[in-house]
Amino acid sequence: MVVGEATQSFFRDTWVEVDLSAIEDNIRGVKELYQDKEMTIMAIVKADGYGHGALEVSRAALDAGATFLGVALLDEALKLRKGGIDAPILVLGRTRPTDVQLAVMHNISLTVYQLDWVEEAQKHLQPTDTLKVHMKLDSGMGRIGLREKKEIDEIIEALSASNTIKLEAIFTHFATADEQDLRYFQEQYQRFLTMLEWIQAKGITVPYIHCGNSATALRFPDKTFNMIRFGISMYGLTPSLEIKAELPFQLKQAFSLRCRLTHVKKLPAGEAISYGATYRTTEDEWIGTLPIGYADGWLRYHASNGGYVLVEGEEAPFVGRICMDQCMVRLPKKFDVDTVVTLIGKDKGNEISMDDVAVRLNTINYEIPCVIGPRVPRTYYRQKELVSVKNIK
Ligand SMILES: *Cc1c(COP(=O)(O)O)cnc(C)c1O
Repeated sequence: MVVGEATQSFFRDTWVEVDLSAIEDNIRGVKELYQDKEMTIMAIVKADGYGHGALEVSRAALDAGATFLGVALLDEALKLRKGGIDAPILVLGRTRPTDVQLAVMHNISLTVYQLDWVEEAQKHLQPTDTLKVHMKLDSGMGRIGLREKKEIDEIIEALSASNTIKLEAIFTHFATADEQDLRYFQEQYQRFLTMLEWIQAKGITVPYIHCGNSATALRFPDKTFNMIRFGISMYGLTPSLEIKAELPFQLKQAFSLRCRLTHVKKLPAGEAISYGATYRTTEDEWIGTLPIGYADGWLRYHASNGGYVLVEGEEAPFVGRICMDQCMVRLPKKFDVDTVVTLIGKDKGNEISMDDVAVRLNTINYEIPCVIGPRVPRTYYRQKELVSVKNIK
């Protein structure tokens, strides 16, 4: 990969590189895991593809064998349609029942879990409309979903009587599938099975049943029915550190974050760096300035807990507070202005992984790419070749 070759199409020296080949390989990896089984892969591309770019990731995932897409919001589904994606899409969160016409028009499946919703939605559907819905069961996540037998029976009856709403799937979501302690996972799984029995007892069958996020899909292939909702690991990231060592194949991290040095200077001992003058040089030091700050999602916390970047493979720690648009590092030696700096990713045999950065911020890897804002252009690579660039307009 020629680092930074995409900088022709935007005008700042900070960018994300998304390796679409890695995303494709991660999809192929999970497909192979299920080679003996009929399994539909729903690629989860909510939150702009976990910050990677929903359209580009969707296209790559569909190319590699995913056939369904999942998003959190109707707006996100509509954006995919606008971008020319015609694969089936499920909205995982609640959509207003007054907006079901939009879902019908664009062939978008919605999540249902309230009888009132079904009744209200029907008022907004024409007799010839077909709205596809996935029924969400709350087996113990406590977020959204049906819990009681009575409410499940009622909604099943309403859906059976409906000519416009078609039940396409039943699903649930696990709270602890990424933990070593599997007791709560087992409990949730058993509750889901019981709920499915209630529904089957009413003579209802559906095309899809799904409960597998990445952790479940990778660890328990015999508990995922006929569809998985593959999110974090499609991006090459482990669902948690505690199961990283037991993943069934090598995931490939797709996201790197880089910039170029905008200023390099040598300071004598005793000079202060950044707001609050919290850092002082203790000897002659080479200080480099980076064109990224908290307004880009590079949060102020990066400067504490030993945060550093890579410059030609060498570590350079943050010094002083991170500003809105810039920050400073102590360089191990003199580097030229325009030298490429790696904040996340591989550089000359060294690497700062998403997990390293997440640990530094005392959070999970999911959060890191999501908060790198739209002001940072996304550049897309396939087989190390630049294929497209997405920048704010
Ligand atoms: C985000 C989400 C997923 C994907 O989870 P990963 O851990 O990223 O694989 C699956 N299902 C639901 C309901 C979600 O909200």
